[in-house]
Amino acid sequence: MDELQQLPIPLLVWYRENARVLPWRSDPTPYHVWISEIMLQQTRVAAVLEYYRRFLEAAPDVAALAALPQDQLMKLWQGLGYYSRARNLQKAAEQIMTAHNGIFPNTYEDIRALAGVGDYTAGAISSIAFGRPVPAVDGNVLRVTARITGDGGDISTPAMKKRVTGALAGVISLDAPGDFNQAMMELGATICLPNGAPLCEKCPAAGFCRAFQEGRTGELPVKAARKARRVEERTVYLLFYRDSIALRRRPGRGLLAGLWEYPNELSGRTDWLERWGLSVPALEKAGTGRHIFTHIEWQMTALSGELDSPVLPEGWVWADRGALRDVYAVPNAFRSFDRLVGDRLGHF
Ligand code: SF4
Repeated sequence: MDELQQLPIPLLVWYRENARVLPWRSDPTPYHVWISEIMLQQTRVAAVLEYYRRFLEAAPDVAALAALPQDQLMKLWQGLGYYSRARNLQKAAEQIMTAHNGIFPNTYEDIRALAGVGDYTAGAISSIAFGRPVPAVDGNVLRVTARITGDGGDISTPAMKKRVTGALAGVISLDAPGDFNQAMMELGATICLPNGAPLCEKCPAAGFCRAFQEGRTGELPVKAARKARRVEERTVYLLFYRDSIALRRRPGRGLLAGLWEYPNELSGRTDWLERWGLSVPALEKAGTGRHIFTHIEWQMTALSGELDSPVLPEGWVWADRGALRDVYAVPNAFRSFDRLVGDRLGHF
């Protein structure tokens, strides 16, 4: 991996000329870096900006985050997906309040021990907020490094991640480790693009990048194919009573844990309405929807009707238009039905 020795100076020069102006970069407190890094996992920068602003308004510091009511937290995260990130943020805030007297820990090990913080995020916070020379290796950085060094290892394996982390630890800038890490991520996000042609002619590493020099940018990085997703057919029940719709909370563990949903079950022979003790004089097919999670795909058919009584199973609630807008976080998985529900209750 000798090519990496040549990387730091041109990379930092390029970054200082090209870095995007982002709110967490202009005020990189540990709290700001942490929240932004967690939001940016699996989510694009453009999508994060407004969420970040609203989140900091509601929870400007660790203490406020630890005290945030769960439904408000979920509401702030609604639409970002991967909700366990939000729950872990709050768990980590509680850890900081109890184990660190409310002061954000400043060593890699203590940061890594916070809920929801992996090697990458601990490296990002340590380097950006505390100037510690620790690499932060995410998918972007793995791709860039594999191409620069011409390494044909599978970037989805722990062995490759370890190799890349070790190699970057040997060249990371000691004066500006945070800029070095951010520059690597930025290069991956804007120049050394995945799937298709990277913009090598604009890249500060073009002069020594093995993949570019050897015409192998299409072959690198190597990544094992993912397993196919499991498809689930689900029936979604849009059950109304006057100006409200029935919601239930999902279980506290697993997919979309703790969020509110329109009641839904695997399609099949079970008469769910009977099992729930509900009666709907006229139930009709209202529409279909699809949602893709990492490992599962839901193919949904919605049935809609008016209940003949407002009595609901235990733990379910009635939500009117205002409550759907301000109180209950219904995840994006059900977004296909928002219009149907909005047509009936008024759009929210
Ligand atoms: S030269 Fe091309 S392949 Fe190499 S790091 Fe730059 S953008 Fe990526």
